Amino acid sequence: MEWYNQCSLCPRKCGADRLTGSGACHTKLNISPEGELMIPVARAALHFWEEPCISGSAGSGAVFFSGCSLGCVFCQNGHISSGESGVYITASRLSDIFLELQAQGALNINLVTADHVIPIVADALKRVRGKSLTIPVLLNTSSYLTVHQLRLLEGLVDIFLPDLKYTSALIAKRFSHAPDYPEVAKAAIAEMYRQSGPCVFDADGHITRGTIVRHLVMPGCTADSKSVVRYLYETYGDNIYISIMNQYTPMDWVSDIPLLNRRVRHSEYESVIDYALSLGVTNGFRQEGAAASSSFVPPFDHTGVLPH
Ligand code: SF4
Repeated sequence: MEWYNQCSLCPRKCGADRLTGSGACHTKLNISPEGELMIPVARAALHFWEEPCISGSAGSGAVFFSGCSLGCVFCQNGHISSGESGVYITASRLSDIFLELQAQGALNINLVTADHVIPIVADALKRVRGKSLTIPVLLNTSSYLTVHQLRLLEGLVDIFLPDLKYTSALIAKRFSHAPDYPEVAKAAIAEMYRQSGPCVFDADGHITRGTIVRHLVMPGCTADSKSVVRYLYETYGDNIYISIMNQYTPMDWVSDIPLLNRRVRHSEYESVIDYALSLGVTNGFRQEGAAASSSFVPPFDHTGVLPH
């Protein structure tokens, strides 16, 4: 029996048959006429809205995978995390996409929410990484993944861009239906740091290796945000970067949910930043200006997914 017939890949371990798409990640796999597994991808294009050391002015080569094994109720990429958008491609086509993004001048390959399809992504990377693909590879993840999932990528990823969304099991249960998220994510980030080591930047200030942990400040949850920052700084000190984000955007489907139906107040965000500074955090990023609008969400129109 193959792993996808009774899937226990991610911490949900839901046992779904991935060929029917009945898993908690909403990601049905297909089989090509040649017998290769196929996964749905929503967009593959240069992306300019990551941290400056990732996007630079040339852009990050972002590949957005459809579906998600965490499934936060407030997700601003909800149209792809719910598996509604995507074109099916093989690992062979995915490796060609990596090379096409490199040819467009991408600073790195940015794998956005690939956790639930990691075996196929690892297959694609093995075909080209260290051969025709010479730019760094970055895993952009919710951190809701097992150490086993991450070890499938050993030696294939240079930069990790994980979230640490919550340290509170109660908030994780309420916002992501995953009360085990804090312990799972902490173990995952430890494994990412083991694989990446401390951050390394090139002469232009672009990251080439290391781990940058993101935290999105949520409305009404500043106490947990401070707990997140404290955990990261006490555990990793200056060996990682911490990116504290204010871009929470209430989407239509959370308009009836208290807290989630409003933006983060300026005072809430600044209190988390002040706390980080008071701890001594210097290796970090903050977002300037007002909380973001939905313009941060790119169109998931299958750009760059199929061959020209
Ligand atoms: S990856 Fe998807 S199908 Fe597999 S265990 Fe996780 S949620 Fe279930």
